[in-house]
Amino acid sequence: MDTLVAEPLEALAARIRACTLCRLHEGRTNAVPGEGAASARLLLIGEGPGRHEDEQGRPFVGAAGKVLDASLAKAGLTRGEVFITNIVKCRPPENRKPKADEVAACRPYLEAQIRAVRPAAIVTMGDTALKGLLGPSASRTAPGRRRPRHEGIPVVATYHPAAALYDRRLGEVLGSDLARAVRLVAPITRPRSGRPRQSRRVRPALSSGCAVLDGENRILLLRRADEGLWCLPKGTVEPGETLQETAMREVREETGLSVRILAPLTEITYSFYSPSDDANVEKRVVYFLAERTGGRLKPEPGFDDARWCGRADALRRLHFENDRNVVRRAFEALAPATGRTRGRGPAASS
Ligand code: SF4
Repeated sequence: MDTLVAEPLEALAARIRACTLCRLHEGRTNAVPGEGAASARLLLIGEGPGRHEDEQGRPFVGAAGKVLDASLAKAGLTRGEVFITNIVKCRPPENRKPKADEVAACRPYLEAQIRAVRPAAIVTMGDTALKGLLGPSASRTAPGRRRPRHEGIPVVATYHPAAALYDRRLGEVLGSDLARAVRLVAPITRPRSGRPRQSRRVRPALSSGCAVLDGENRILLLRRADEGLWCLPKGTVEPGETLQETAMREVREETGLSVRILAPLTEITYSFYSPSDDANVEKRVVYFLAERTGGRLKPEPGFDDARWCGRADALRRLHFENDRNVVRRAFEALAPATGRTRGRGPAASS
């Protein structure tokens, strides 16, 4: 731990415990300043303390905390590797949402924590945390937006762990978003997966992605910074999203480009062992043929290269046969889907 940073955090915690700046101090048993590594590369923000947190003076120690711990584990993280805090540090009565003036009063403490930890990425958990950090117009699903930033730090918006208590699919999304945040801060290594193991429970997973073509009949590939493997943009389907919406969102988040879906393309399935939850994952990925409509190519942190490749180049770069089959299907489908003639110049690229 970096002691030069830890001391201000501790002094900050002492000030929070004595704070009476807003009405929330009146009903608290303990203020909950937050906890974790002062050198953490991820800073997680929740809404506010609940009953258990208020009793113990620690964040996320109740049922939602168990969900958070499980989601962190799926992303290959422990609490010791992140810093966890809340938008307000004292429990709102009856667990109501914090009011705007309470959020505003508590905001300087959050800003000071962010300055002290200097994380590489921030994860907001729930709408209150997202809007509390980025403002009332912030939305987790705003279309056409690049990843938001706070003081230059990328922000990953996900669900509050308490929401996953009522909808297990949201827990999957939470884990997936935390894994995405891990990719943003690449020096934290991801857990290695491997061949399926005997006698493990099976966890199904659904993703969606795109074979994105430009106006010169080239396909877009990304290279993962951690493993150096080239791949196609794809990601986890979130509750309420269609497969097409997921595919377009993932392209936007991972590459900065907006795309138009041209046609369903193919789907692939594969299985692997996930050490983080000791399960065999049976993954299905649905791919669409898409064409670029705008944006500027800028790979998300976690990817160290992105480039447009002709068919032969793409097949040579891709590591997995599954991915190569997607590329083959994309080039087979190219002419009928776009009206372009393979090998000719651009027809409709922005
Ligand atoms: S919620 Fe924040 S501003 Fe309000 S009393 Fe607690 S520490 Fe102070």
